[in-house]
Amino acid sequence: MVKLPKYVQKALRDGLELHRAGLSGDGLVPKTVSDAESGVQGGAWPDEKIKRAAAWFARHKNDRMMMKNPDSWDKPPSYSPAYVAWLLWGDDGNGKGEEFMKKRSMELKLKEGKMRIMHAMLKDLLDVIGMMDSVDMDTLKNILMATHDRYASIAGDGEPESDADYVDVEDAVEEPTVYQRSNLPPAAFFPASFFAGADGNYDDEGEFRVSKSKLPHHINDVEDPYGNESVDIPRLRNALARFNQVDWSDFPDGTMEKTRVHLERHADGILASRAKECATCREEDLNALSEDIRDFRAGRFSDIIGRLNG
Ligand SMILES: [Zn+2]
Repeated sequence: MVKLPKYVQKALRDGLELHRAGLSGDGLVPKTVSDAESGVQGGAWPDEKIKRAAAWFARHKNDRMMMKNPDSWDKPPSYSPAYVAWLLWGDDGNGKGEEFMKKRSMELKLKEGKMRIMHAMLKDLLDVIGMMDSVDMDTLKNILMATHDRYASIAGDGEPESDADYVDVEDAVEEPTVYQRSNLPPAAFFPASFFAGADGNYDDEGEFRVSKSKLPHHINDVEDPYGNESVDIPRLRNALARFNQVDWSDFPDGTMEKTRVHLERHADGILASRAKECATCREEDLNALSEDIRDFRAGRFSDIIGRLNG
């Protein structure tokens, strides 16, 4: 429930009064009236009503500008039915109530986004608990840290992951050609791309070495290493399967953790967007990838390898 400020309650009361005086017009829905009554009686509206109010004002803003005589719509004795409706949704025409609904509605949506992330996190943690007996402490620690990193990277923006993260991915490459896999640039391996200094050790400023880089998962035209449209899906699955076989000792500290989060976000992004865009296309590949990412998070690497070989 959201508490309604005095000015919203007053608008509702005024609206009800004009409605009882027969000035509300035929278009008014009884529910709008009963909601206004409950807003006056209880001083609060349910979350859903707040969101509907914000949407209602957004939809009807133009109607108001298109009126024959917009200046006199709220003047007696010729109250416009639109004005009465406006009041019954909580705004007396000065925009304050409308602004209130807009702001609260955005806050509610943000909170819901965070709740969705929270539920996903709890589900992942349940997976971890489910396999506590079957893995050693070090593996468990890594899995917990990766879970933390993944959600920290999502929560870090202060915004729930928006749909915008999931556009432009419909082309993630399912069957790359030999050519697409040739001459891979550093971005294809990021963050596990290796740069060698004069002494052969890792050096950010050094020369890129394909041979020492690990877990390629993009095709050769990759420009943005975070982008999903250049992801080589079979290789992404391979990277998930072979992750625990990589010797990270030559890489800077933290490369393993960064790589883990990076691969997971590719898998999450591709799965989420595919589910939305095309529920039926190449279902087996998608199912396999979603099983892969589950096993990956649970440390069951051999299960992924088994699926890849099967
Ligand atoms: Zn990548």
